[in-house]
Amino acid sequence: MRYEKLAKVYEELSKTTKRLEKIDILSKFLEDIGKEDSDIMYLLEGRIYPAYDERKIGISNQIAIKAISKATGTDSKKVLLKWKKVGDIGEVAKELTQTKKQTTLASNIPTTKKVIDNLRKLPELVGKGTIDKKLSLITELLTSTSPIESLYLIRTLIGDLRIGVQESTIKYSILKAFFKNNKDYEINLQRAIDRSNDLKEVFEYARTRKIEELDKINLEVGKPIKAMLAQKAKSVEDAFTHLGKPLAAEYKYDGFRLLIHKKGDKVHLFTRSLENVTNQFPEVIDYIKKFIRGESFILDSEAVGYDKKTKKYTDFQKISQRIKRKYDIEKLSEKLPVEVNVFDVLFYNGKSELEKPLRERRKLIDKIVKSHPYKLITSKFIESSDKKEIENFYKMALKDNQEGIMLKNLEAPYKPGRRVGNMLKLKPEENELDLVITGGEWGTGKRSGWISSFILSCKKGNNYLEIGKVGTGIGEKENEENKVTFDELTKLMNPLITEEKGKNVTVKPKIVVTIHYQDIQKSPTYESGWALRFPRITALRPDKPLSEIADLEEIEKDFLEQRKKNYKYG
Ligand code: ATP
Repeated sequence: MRYEKLAKVYEELSKTTKRLEKIDILSKFLEDIGKEDSDIMYLLEGRIYPAYDERKIGISNQIAIKAISKATGTDSKKVLLKWKKVGDIGEVAKELTQTKKQTTLASNIPTTKKVIDNLRKLPELVGKGTIDKKLSLITELLTSTSPIESLYLIRTLIGDLRIGVQESTIKYSILKAFFKNNKDYEINLQRAIDRSNDLKEVFEYARTRKIEELDKINLEVGKPIKAMLAQKAKSVEDAFTHLGKPLAAEYKYDGFRLLIHKKGDKVHLFTRSLENVTNQFPEVIDYIKKFIRGESFILDSEAVGYDKKTKKYTDFQKISQRIKRKYDIEKLSEKLPVEVNVFDVLFYNGKSELEKPLRERRKLIDKIVKSHPYKLITSKFIESSDKKEIENFYKMALKDNQEGIMLKNLEAPYKPGRRVGNMLKLKPEENELDLVITGGEWGTGKRSGWISSFILSCKKGNNYLEIGKVGTGIGEKENEENKVTFDELTKLMNPLITEEKGKNVTVKPKIVVTIHYQDIQKSPTYESGWALRFPRITALRPDKPLSEIADLEEIEKDFLEQRKKNYKYG
């Protein structure tokens, strides 16, 4: 298919904010995609591979500017100036292509295949001359694209497609295109998406228009799956209302989510953002092989750090460095050991366990996992209908330095990637939000050379809206009371800078942080309409995907809760 056709669909999609209209546009387009072009399913989400694949396009604005400059014969300083004025680098590419195309004619119009082929070469390039090679792959495309194609090609390259299409939009479009919008089939389709986690694969099965074909998709060991998420409970009573009685209560361990895959001798470990962290946890691989029975399985767990001497559990911030560390891994595993707490099973010996009730999944875990404290154990678990008993269990969890408890519906299936309310978290009330850093300010004096204040943003659909600035809770020295340091943040932000004006920088939204604050106020200063009072950064969240940061709705809910409380006690 010609890339132009896809670019036109992008354009149509970006012109409407209405979900149903988007589904309409997309479902018609899906019917036109042949099997040989099914990679377009990735392009629709601005990717070249499924979301879990580590090969990302990863082109910086700087390279994009150079490519536009080369392809359109415009001085790169001029491209930069134009970008500063227009604000969207895709639009700059469109404008400059337009000017150029008035004098020259495009010689070969690219196909989606050619585009994806070139884009897939980008992450493979390493070592000397990489930038030049990347540039020539991009300019090869850009010299033959039309203005509208240039716009979306550049947006794809920098990872900012702006067409407002989410996985659910694609799901409903598939349902409409191939299953006559039959809502009875939505379950089958969702199940296929959950199990495959790969929209191209789902599309290929769906286009047969046979629902039985779609049902053939199964989980695969080694292919990451999205973790089930939790909602908040206000109290044990509140949990009974939502989950019924009896329910399962487990410790809520303060670590990071670890999805364990094993087949034969091969083990893979993934975080909740589907990142492969197998190499970072050699000791865990050992535990899995020794203490869990089964030929093949996928388990869900939380890895928690502990102090070797005191055996006390440590907080998340301390062990989060293990997730990103690529060197001295053995040393770090000695210094910052983890205990793996297994709490769910998704797949066992060739069969999916997702649809089984938690009660049965838990039985299976107890059968196959042999607990070894400070290495790998089954999560602390009680089944109860008794409020007092659960409250005591909650107190015990807090005394054991854990965050609180999880309350789970014993009859519920495992729903990957969704907060469906079968699993609730109960923890002491704290004002806490996960937000993303979108900018900052270079420090002066003692803090010169570091970015010393940070702009925080929340999410609204696919956009990020500022909600405050933070400069406290950050350490000056390495390892200072387990704090995130200015140096660490500056190093992370530097390659993400997209704009610099005086002391102010704008960065690509990538760094997720946990913020504690005193209260939320309405505010005309920030574009979100809200501001946080006394915010502090309490943790870096390299394990958390951007899609899971706080959105406007959550903030408004927190504000209303806060007002209710103030009214009650104030
Ligand atoms: P929080 O910041 O409160 O951890 P979150 O947004 O990071 O919330 P949630 O999905 O809301 O994540 O809370 C559930 C998280 O708690 C899980 O993602 C998991 O990492 C962790 N967890 C700890 N112990 C358990 C357990 N026994 N069962 C399920 N999840 C657990």
